[in-house]
Amino acid sequence: MTAVEARAWASSIGLPPFRGEQLVQGVYRAGVSHFAEVKGLPRDLAERLDAAGPLLPAVETRRQESRDGTVKSLLRLGDGKLVECVSIPTAERHTVCVSSQVGCAVGCSFCASGLNGVERDLTPGEIVYQVVHHHRARPVTNVVFMGSGEPMFNYDNVLAAIRVLGEPLGLGLGRRRLTVSTSGVPARIRQLATDEPQITLALSLHAGDDETRSRLVPLNKRWPLAEVLAAMGDYAERVGRRATLEYVLLADANMTPAHAASLAAAARPIGAHINLIPFNPVFETGHRRPTPDEVRAFADQLARFGGHATVRGARGSDIDAACGQLKRREAASEADGGAA
Ligand code: SAH
Ligand code: SF4
Repeated sequence: MTAVEARAWASSIGLPPFRGEQLVQGVYRAGVSHFAEVKGLPRDLAERLDAAGPLLPAVETRRQESRDGTVKSLLRLGDGKLVECVSIPTAERHTVCVSSQVGCAVGCSFCASGLNGVERDLTPGEIVYQVVHHHRARPVTNVVFMGSGEPMFNYDNVLAAIRVLGEPLGLGLGRRRLTVSTSGVPARIRQLATDEPQITLALSLHAGDDETRSRLVPLNKRWPLAEVLAAMGDYAERVGRRATLEYVLLADANMTPAHAASLAAAARPIGAHINLIPFNPVFETGHRRPTPDEVRAFADQLARFGGHATVRGARGSDIDAACGQLKRREAASEADGGAA
């Protein structure tokens, strides 16, 4: 809840509205686990609220810490479903990567999250909690919607979560600190430009030609490149900032000189910046991670064709940091009674 919503909720159960604001501060900013820990709340009220049900929508069931400081948490939701969220600390920032759905319906050929389809949407509270979870260790400065799920297929809840994350009495994360990544849903891309023009939108392109992209991102058969790129062009014009394209580097699928040329050609008309992301290996997909030399060669080709790109360093590769991997491990070990 935002502070305004929390005030209304407090009134609706017969409390003074300021109690709502107190709860927003206690729950989001202080990161409490029970109402009884919220400072200044009368004990009988805290007991009543705690008796009504658990405050937190999830509990951590597994945690992996990388040598580089990246922490990946597997959360068990109220109905037993599992989602992942990742804390990525650097000297200046603490970024949290959140999931928007349990699983994903898109089924990209290289992604662990889509291997079993989508199970359900996450609620706004379940999305916000992933940030609160990692906020306790160190204040969160940035949030990226790059965990499991397609945010545009859970649009209303993602927007509600963005509003709660921005609540000044709570986490107070400005829109400029949020990034939503999408595999390409044109109507929603345009809608986001109107609803939330200040957040950053990234399009997962992965190929600049329809034949390759349809193989990697099945959604491309429904909304081909021309439609998605037109929507991104409109988006960039409307919000007044250049678009960002993500391109997972798959040694066996999208790294020929022809792929570099079509990527540059796709990015040029919309003035997009390209993030090149070496594939984080997911065994089941059969794709191959490129060598550093192959990455360099592709980036050079791209530059020659006029593409503006940054090669992103992989973080947490020693802890299954690609989205969906930790969950698959947990599910496999549950299936054989924990023996794995
Ligand atoms: N569904 C949305 C957001 C979640 S995926 C989307 O696809 O954009 C976030 C990013 O992680 C996407 O760019 C996706 O292509 C990338 N990704 C997924 N699996 C990956 C892997 N194994 N290695 C590297 N990047 C991966
Ligand atoms: Fe879904 Fe994104 Fe994974 Fe594709 S890359 S399956 S859209 S989560």
